Amino acid sequence: MESAIPILPSNDSTPSFYGFARARLAGHLGRMGLSAYRADQLFAWVYQKQVREPSRMTNLPASLRQEVGAILDMALPPAHVLASADGDTHKLVFTLEDGARVESVSMRTPKRLTFCVSSQVGCALKCAFCATGRMGLLRNLRAEEIVAQVLVMGDLHQWRDDRFNIVFMGMGEPLANLGPVSEAIRILHDERGLNLGARRITVSTSGLVPQIRELARLDLQVGLALSLHATTDEVRDRLMPVNRRWPIAEVLDAAREYGATVGRRVTLEYTLIGGVNDSPEDADRLAAFARALPSKINIIPYNPVPGLEWKRPGPRAIDEFAARLYPRAPAVTVRNTMGGEIWAACGQLGGLSPQT
Ligand code: SAH
Ligand code: SF4
Repeated sequence: MESAIPILPSNDSTPSFYGFARARLAGHLGRMGLSAYRADQLFAWVYQKQVREPSRMTNLPASLRQEVGAILDMALPPAHVLASADGDTHKLVFTLEDGARVESVSMRTPKRLTFCVSSQVGCALKCAFCATGRMGLLRNLRAEEIVAQVLVMGDLHQWRDDRFNIVFMGMGEPLANLGPVSEAIRILHDERGLNLGARRITVSTSGLVPQIRELARLDLQVGLALSLHATTDEVRDRLMPVNRRWPIAEVLDAAREYGATVGRRVTLEYTLIGGVNDSPEDADRLAAFARALPSKINIIPYNPVPGLEWKRPGPRAIDEFAARLYPRAPAVTVRNTMGGEIWAACGQLGGLSPQT
């Protein structure tokens, strides 16, 4: 007969449901004397029906409904939500168990809904143009804290649109926290859970070469975006200290290998900063990199960060840079700035908003 060991763990030691991939959950339940298929049932309730109170899980025996609450914590962290004036962008500021704050952003365009999630509280990599980098690294997020961001954003949009994309472009360097990030991806990807296709998930990295190779070996099939931001090592060294460890040629090599292994085109992200990396020669070199990979280019006009002196180029300069790329590069997009007024745009996450 199936019955959970009658333990009454304190709330602190009850593991979060959202940190368990289904196979691990089955193992965890097994150790409690419960059948493995209960993991499938719980996944269906939580991720497919969005029911997170065990008392409402009507196909579980009444005794089990009580026990589940004692062995798995299904609470989600509270989030403070800020909406842009047009209502298309929301910034969520989560307060985690230890009081740490972490931010996520949801963006709706006519074509798609995108959830931008954080992987760390702060970031150690100190890119010279990024608000998160200025915080330093406070700590890594756990898998459940990553999954929770997605669930809370899904709740915010009432799961009306299940065709959302996830980009690891919030706070932190996802490849510096690869274990929890890959576990979260497996959980989000599970066909008995949210069933989010790998094509809908993109991991953005500043260019940690060994971890790019590791990500390829993990075979998660997710998209890779590489934050390039410069076309010479001299400029990239200045913008991104990580370049001193893995310079442009090495990181492009790793990106090429990743793209070939996974069978997907890598994206080159290029934050355009006035007078720093926006010359016609930069455009030509960037186009050549993109052709050689092959890859898509995503131009991100620099978003202002208080205390930093970098400048966004004017609209004409942005257009000219893109126009020079178009005939030379395989695919170019200019990222729309969304959520600038709530400090939710790329590179602005890090507790900048006065309301938070
Ligand atoms: N740490 C990862 C992912 C998070 S940042 C990475 O660096 O790739 C998401 C993107 O925004 C990165 O390409 C990053 O370089 C860029 N970014 C950072 N600060 C920015 C700013 N102030 N303006 C525009 N883009 C910025
Ligand atoms: Fe970290 Fe990415 Fe910001 Fe660089 S751009 S400091 S890697 S979050």
